[in-house]
Amino acid sequence: MPRPKPSKPEEPVKLKVKKGDTVEVISGKDVGTRGEVLSAHPRENKVVVKGANITVKHTKDKPSNRAGAAGANRVIKGGRLETEAPLFVSKVMVVCPACKRPTRVGYAYKEGDEKLSRRKYRVCKHPECGKSLD
Ligand SMILES: [Zn+2]
Repeated sequence: MPRPKPSKPEEPVKLKVKKGDTVEVISGKDVGTRGEVLSAHPRENKVVVKGANITVKHTKDKPSNRAGAAGANRVIKGGRLETEAPLFVSKVMVVCPACKRPTRVGYAYKEGDEKLSRRKYRVCKHPECGKSLD
């Protein structure tokens, strides 16, 4: 029997952090680490930050599924695999590209075309800065 389609997918919560942003880790073992957001996962409220929350995976050598052209016994070499594990967004703050400080994110509307789109953009919350983060 075909599975019933899941009822309307939950609206993903918009994260204030997005791919490509530079963020600073503000809690956990990597406090103070700054890095680029490699990917954002709005459903889980998590982001992957380059160089933060590194986990080491140990893998063993294992035979390759694909036999080599000559039928040689090929193996995939095991070893230490370092990967960034996702962090909760609440553990990071966006670093403002203008004042280079971690900041909370505010929103503002682009001027001029509010009737057409009222496009929101993100701004630095430091009162003396207020520059766009996008
Ligand atoms: Zn700023």
